[in-house]
Amino acid sequence: AKFVYDFTEGNKDLKDLLGGKGANLAEMTNLGLPVPPGFTITTEACKTYLESGTEPAALRDEVTAHLDALEAQMGKKLGQADNPLLVSVRSGAKFSMPGMMDTVLNIGLSDKSVQGLAKQAGDERFAWDSYRRLIQMFGKTVLGVEGELFEDALEAAKAAKKVTVDTELEAADLKKLVTKFKKIVKTEAGRDFPQDPREQMDLAIHAVFDSWNTDRAKLYRRQERIPHDLGTAVNVCSMVFGNLGPDSGTGVAFTRDPASGHQGVYGDYLQNAQGEDVVAGIRNTVPLADLEKIDKKSYDQLMQIMETLENHYKDLCDIEFTIERGQLWMLQTRVGKRTAGAAFRIATQLVDQGLIDEAEALQRVNGAQLAQLMFPRFDEDTKVETVGRGIAASPGAAVGKAVFDSYTAVKWSRSGEKVILVRRETNPDDLDGMIAAEGILTSRGGKTSHAAVVARGMGKTCVCGAEELEVDTKRRRMTVPGGHVVEEGDLISIDGSSGKVYLGEVPVVPSPVVEYFEGRMHAGAQDADELVEAVHRIMAFADRKRRLRVRANADNAEDAMRARRFGAQGIGLCRTEHMFLGDRRELVERLILADTEAEREESLKELLPLQKQDFVELFSAMDGLPVTIRLLDPPLHEFLPDITELSVRVALAESRQEPHENELRLLQAVHRLHEQNPMLGLRGVRLGLVIPGLFTMQVRAIAEAAAERKSAKGDPRAEIMIPLVGTVQELEIVREEADQVVAEVEAATGTELKLAIGTMIELPRAALTAGQIAEAAEFFSFGTNDLTQTVWGFSRDDVEASFFTAYLEKGIFGVSPFETIDKDGVGSLVKLAAEAGRATRPDLKLGVCGEHGGDPESVHFFHEVGLDYVSCSPFRIPVARLEAGRAAS
Ligand code: PEP
Ligand code: MG
Repeated sequence: AKFVYDFTEGNKDLKDLLGGKGANLAEMTNLGLPVPPGFTITTEACKTYLESGTEPAALRDEVTAHLDALEAQMGKKLGQADNPLLVSVRSGAKFSMPGMMDTVLNIGLSDKSVQGLAKQAGDERFAWDSYRRLIQMFGKTVLGVEGELFEDALEAAKAAKKVTVDTELEAADLKKLVTKFKKIVKTEAGRDFPQDPREQMDLAIHAVFDSWNTDRAKLYRRQERIPHDLGTAVNVCSMVFGNLGPDSGTGVAFTRDPASGHQGVYGDYLQNAQGEDVVAGIRNTVPLADLEKIDKKSYDQLMQIMETLENHYKDLCDIEFTIERGQLWMLQTRVGKRTAGAAFRIATQLVDQGLIDEAEALQRVNGAQLAQLMFPRFDEDTKVETVGRGIAASPGAAVGKAVFDSYTAVKWSRSGEKVILVRRETNPDDLDGMIAAEGILTSRGGKTSHAAVVARGMGKTCVCGAEELEVDTKRRRMTVPGGHVVEEGDLISIDGSSGKVYLGEVPVVPSPVVEYFEGRMHAGAQDADELVEAVHRIMAFADRKRRLRVRANADNAEDAMRARRFGAQGIGLCRTEHMFLGDRRELVERLILADTEAEREESLKELLPLQKQDFVELFSAMDGLPVTIRLLDPPLHEFLPDITELSVRVALAESRQEPHENELRLLQAVHRLHEQNPMLGLRGVRLGLVIPGLFTMQVRAIAEAAAERKSAKGDPRAEIMIPLVGTVQELEIVREEADQVVAEVEAATGTELKLAIGTMIELPRAALTAGQIAEAAEFFSFGTNDLTQTVWGFSRDDVEASFFTAYLEKGIFGVSPFETIDKDGVGSLVKLAAEAGRATRPDLKLGVCGEHGGDPESVHFFHEVGLDYVSCSPFRIPVARLEAGRAAS
């Protein structure tokens, strides 16, 4: 394999091999932009080095050849005494890992060549300053010397001279400092600072390779979900100097504003400085626009280059540059990071400029960004102090009183208080508290910590790993930087989208994007208007492109209407069990407890009109659009009181010798219905087969509601769905009864109802026998929640809080299979069943109504396997529309 590429040999598409920085340096070189010559050592070389622990011989030879070529081009030799070539050695992985890895500048300086540099530059101070920087950087990153030792020596030199800034040290002072620095290296590293320039370079290259595996780099990758086996490339680049006087300098720039997308001049410039001075904040930068006054020629050239880069990359770029004595050099560019809002705005701006088309614009945004824009946020105009910052683990804005244990969280929230649960880290014992809290704040742990995983699963705001906060759960308090103490009960606010933590209550404002979807647009701030306009246009692009239809999971008219406003094209899942709660629970209880046929029929008769009314409301909210109603699914005991609570009640009554016949009957029923594994028990179609009259009552309610809507000139489009079917026989029996009831209602009302009857595919057996099941089903809707549960054998109610954290940390999966569809396992059953079903019945309608229907990655999968629609909760409908559009373009 080829281990080294000259900048003229690579291009921007070789990021896997050359890393982001190397690939883009090559791209700029080939665009004819002023890039200091150099070469890139590949990630393959890094991987080989890390595996074997030594540098492969072929790599050394290739580096020699490229160095020779570079020296020939520059007309000087690395570290040559009278006229030295100096190089920088910089890391550059495929994904940027800011501040994680190593860089060494000024390689090639030695006791001899420092004189040559002084002559070359005509500046002795500059040469000695460059040399001391090399020893400092090299000592710290390559030889592992404690950085503070150098900083202390530098401070001491300034103090001795009674000056405060580095630039006031003169050549002679810096010369002395170099001697001091070399002594530090000798004592601390047990070796001399290497005078051989090639040895300097080789050691620096190895140090960059090794920096891939430092603890902090590994931690960063775990948090950002960057694979550990990519390795880093190394860029060896001829040095240019921004610290050669007032006609030199260094800066960063964006081709447009990464916060708003507006075009203009955005960036910072620092005169007479090198890159690390900007980062270190030694002196204040000036706005990039000021460069026009300082050096008009370089400024104009930079503007020209920024335009070239934007037109070439067709996207926002960020740039690092250096000016050496009036000559502009490009040190880096890349497609720049941006906020979620700016992503939408930039995508539409680029369409308007004719740089990209609609399909490409859809690739520039994603559902996660849209979801982020839909969360309520803290009012940015409020002046409040940030007291800490952690990892943005689960988005949202939460305000509440700080509590430090789960018990208090539950107790306080029961009495109507809003609380934020603050813990060092959470574990399964904290679950009740997490459910009760508005948000969760931890001082330990990353994006896959228990708190983060569980909070995301619950859709609850979470900031984790806010390490500056000292959480003392015993004393129920936390100390924030600066020493302020937050006691139990003090108000705090946390922002799960930025990771920021605030003292006190920060006002929350609704998202302008949600206001727009809701059709409640007020003329707002210009910023919000531009954002909404961009979202509106991108959604139109997505709707034009997508093949998948998007429906909602909704159980009542209110949700249905919201879903419709958000763009739902029907209801894909109405869970009728949600209609049996509240005051109707008693009716259901009577149904379950009925001793005689007459009693049972009595309670069914009472339920019928209530159910019918539910459906009338739903059909009018969704008039003209399909509404899939699922017959009752959950285990019956869910409608009865808790077994322990009831036992206590019975025992108490007994001891007080009070009458308790009803309680006793209830208790017996609860015992009778109690199951060890209710999820695998008497639920779904099994209920319909075991409780006479239950499903037919529901079917009658649907049919009568549809007939009523028809006679009111409505357009009801009901679909009846049977849950938890495992074999076609179950479906056939239920279907026969249902068909009969529908026929009766049609005859009685004189209307033709055309009710479709279909089934959920949510058990492995159903998927495996889908060809047979399709004989009796007009549609399939994949219940990927239960399908995931049964394919993996994971209890959907327990695992996320118990062992998933361990699984995520061990990398068994990168994300919960209940969140993103497991393509290989659950997904292949979906695919198989879809194909078998369509083979039996070509016009079989196929959808999905598990949680995955609103998950971006899963939506792409459902598009690929050819489903007709996805169904998800109302709030996720815009995300599903967008991702369906992205999948199709
Ligand atoms: C499913 O199992 O995916 C489903 C949608 O049904 P429920 O979540 O109600 O079990
Ligand atoms: Mg289910």
